[in-house]
Amino acid sequence: MTCLDNATKEQLASLCKEKEIPVLWEEPMKHYTSFQIGGPASAVCIPKNREQLSCLLSFLRKMQINHWFVGNGSNLLISDEGLKGVVILLDSDFDEEILISNTILEAPAGKKLSSVCAAACRAELTGLEFAWGIPGSVGGAVYMNAGAYGGEMKDRLIWVEYLDLDGNIQRVPAEKLNLSYRHSCFMEQEYQGVCIIRAAFSLEKGEQAAIQAEMDRIIGQRKEKQPLDLPSAGSTFKRPQGAYAAQLIDQCGLRGFTVGGAQVSTKHTGFVVNIGGATCQDVLELARQVKECVKEKTGFELEMEVRLLP
Ligand SMILES: Cc1cc2nc3c(=O)[nH]c(=O)nc-3n(C[C@H](O)[C@H](O)[C@H](O)COP(=O)(O)OP(=O)(O)OC[C@H]3O[C@@H](n4cnc5c(N)ncnc54)[C@H](O)[C@@H]3O)c2cc1C
Repeated sequence: MTCLDNATKEQLASLCKEKEIPVLWEEPMKHYTSFQIGGPASAVCIPKNREQLSCLLSFLRKMQINHWFVGNGSNLLISDEGLKGVVILLDSDFDEEILISNTILEAPAGKKLSSVCAAACRAELTGLEFAWGIPGSVGGAVYMNAGAYGGEMKDRLIWVEYLDLDGNIQRVPAEKLNLSYRHSCFMEQEYQGVCIIRAAFSLEKGEQAAIQAEMDRIIGQRKEKQPLDLPSAGSTFKRPQGAYAAQLIDQCGLRGFTVGGAQVSTKHTGFVVNIGGATCQDVLELARQVKECVKEKTGFELEMEVRLLP
């Protein structure tokens, strides 16, 4: 895979013009991540339908151009040097809707989890309340097997549709997605470069008031415990077996520990927050020191949950 040289840039520009794919050049990625960190991407393309997505991907693959998928950017740490290639942004303008049939809810990858949970609640379907407040898209949540408050995507997913490397749409049952704690097959080598486009969830009939009350309870807990007033990418580290990352970090006296503009949140030690002007380097250096200290003082190895690009 290579960077985007001037000749290929021109070809990409004419493809985007012909297919009416919105494209932005040298776009700072800090505008697309909840951490508000990240240098410029050579191009950010925002396909609005499957045809545009498919044309774009076949061009990028044919020309062997580096490319990355971004949903809501809420689990990403992007390098200060940026991304020398093309970001494909799958957002809620993608021209597909949430469909509900009986107790099955289907949603396109770019839809925000908040819209999906709200739609489930309106349809009196219970089962997705745990995801209320996770600031991701359906695609990002499937990729990460996102979870909270005792639930995870794995519990509710029926199937996922993705565009494979040959441009074909594949529908895979959830059992074949290798879903486990913050892991899906999409992180594995075999699935590198495929684009999640749609997912279906199995829910149950419930009462709207009860569903809403549970969502309110969850958002209340998030507001009370999490530093939602500062940019972050949520939990920085995965939960190690037999412990909680936040507790270990706190135990090591690292609450408030700061490197440049990156800080271990004083409100929730599982979060690294951007207290102003944090760079990717700041976060990586802070994470390195936290990991080293936790390993030395407790013996636990912390592993990043946040995905680093490139
Ligand atoms: C305040 C806060 C609270 C959070 N709380 C939680 C929580 O409780 N539980 C939890 O699990 N997470 C939590 N997160 C992290 C994050 O919201 C989730 O991981 C979420 O699922 C990421 O979705 P996204 O759309 O933002 O993905 P992105 O950050 O855009 O991408 C994440 C990964 O998915 C890949 N990806 C995204 N879309 C696609 C696609 N369509 N096809 C292929 N690959 C794709 C990206 O390339 C990247 O590797 C929190 C984050 C914040 C900022």
